[in-house]
Amino acid sequence: MDILTVNDEPGHYPPSFYAATADLLAPFPVSEGEISADVCVVGGGFTGLSAALHLARQGLNVVLLEASRVGSGASGRNGGQVGTGQRLEQPDLEQMVGLERARALWDIGLESVALVKSLADEAGTDCEWVPGIIHADHRQRFTAHSRHIVDHMAETYDYHQMRFLDRNEIRAEVGSNGYLSGVLDLGGAHIHPLRYAIALARLAERAGVQIHEMSRVSAIEPGSRVTVKTAHATVSADHLVLGLNGYHNNIDGRLARRVMPINNFIAVTEPLASERAKSLIRNDYAVADSRFVINYFRMSRDNRMIFGGGESYGYRFPADIAAKVRGPMLNVFPQLADARIDYAWGGTLGITMSRLPRFERHARNILSLSGFSGHGVAMATLAGKIAAEAVAGQAGRFDLFEGLPNPGFPGGALLRTPLLAAAMIWFSLRDRL
Ligand SMILES: Cc1cc2nc3c(=O)[nH]c(=O)nc-3n(C[C@H](O)[C@H](O)[C@H](O)COP(=O)(O)OP(=O)(O)OC[C@H]3O[C@@H](n4cnc5c(N)ncnc54)[C@H](O)[C@@H]3O)c2cc1C
Repeated sequence: MDILTVNDEPGHYPPSFYAATADLLAPFPVSEGEISADVCVVGGGFTGLSAALHLARQGLNVVLLEASRVGSGASGRNGGQVGTGQRLEQPDLEQMVGLERARALWDIGLESVALVKSLADEAGTDCEWVPGIIHADHRQRFTAHSRHIVDHMAETYDYHQMRFLDRNEIRAEVGSNGYLSGVLDLGGAHIHPLRYAIALARLAERAGVQIHEMSRVSAIEPGSRVTVKTAHATVSADHLVLGLNGYHNNIDGRLARRVMPINNFIAVTEPLASERAKSLIRNDYAVADSRFVINYFRMSRDNRMIFGGGESYGYRFPADIAAKVRGPMLNVFPQLADARIDYAWGGTLGITMSRLPRFERHARNILSLSGFSGHGVAMATLAGKIAAEAVAGQAGRFDLFEGLPNPGFPGGALLRTPLLAAAMIWFSLRDRL
């Protein structure tokens, strides 16, 4: 099955709230004929757009090939949460890779958030940046951990933007009986992700990147110059950068082994009266909870609840996405039972076994950056910059990521989906107990 076409019509954005509220660009031309470049970038999400932008700013001649529209993958349809750090918490990272590398990853995470903010500002597009993410505990057993994280981040990382929320405080912030404590991280933020993706495309174009949409790469031939084929073009370049994340469609066996596509879903309600919106989320923070299959939500600027929840593990999305998200949404906010759902859509992200991003050299001059495991708004943006550094011969940060533990999924590309589905069902059952 083809992940780029099974749920989406190439050339079109999914029917999301974001597509309805962004200034869409006129389509970029389809790639045609023989094209020569210093660097070819494949994938027009945050990773590819940021890589292309930073490469062009290094004075290189860059061609970007996108199978559909820029930002039509996960980048333009996600929860918009710009989280600090990595997908794993720092104490887990310390155990996994030691304190020194954990510190480096934390600093990179902070830089990634700052990079998103500065690029969005530079583009002059209103990406609706709002500071603050709450990590909400749905079980008492997470409360001590949340207290510990706040202290640990202050003591070990000199990070003072996190604040512990006790039961009363979290209930004042989030109008749900489902949360017992949490952490407010004022270093994180939320944005309109498609506006941001389009802002990156504008910056890349201004920097001289030749962007081609509806230009799906069907074959990659390695060599001292890499050759890349689309339906109507052959691109040859000194370097190739792949930013495909969950949409890699097994184009390369190495990616397929370590980066597994999973689907996640978002529903958006009708606009709510402003008092009602404030009773759900008082200070406009984004929220992500402690469930294994995470619920994440925030208010739009026009007071709609944007609620993400529910996952699926085959390529095809469920027929009724609104119904799939409505369950978890009403579980958190039963008071939304009468709210109409105006938009519902799904997207595919790439996860790894360790939940750490997967950066890899497929050859000396072919770099791949994927596997952001649901934490890619900021990290994928910085990944693009790190790819540009590596192409320029400063590979230190690329090597740091390439050296992170990232085993393949048990069961390989064939059996891992049923194995993962079984594991996910077990964990989500445990969430409910
Ligand atoms: C529903 C959902 C909610 C999420 N919420 C959050 C969140 O709140 N916070 C957060 O940090 N992260 C979130 N994520 C994850 C985040 O969106 C991703 O980590 C990030 O967008 C990855 O960017 P990317 O550029 O690597 O990949 P993508 O944006 O997926 O881009 C890959 C691109 O490659 C193109 N492509 C694929 N194959 C080819 C080919 N052969 N030729 C040419 N082009 C090709 C695709 O069309 C696609 O545009 C979420 C993801 C989803 C799906």
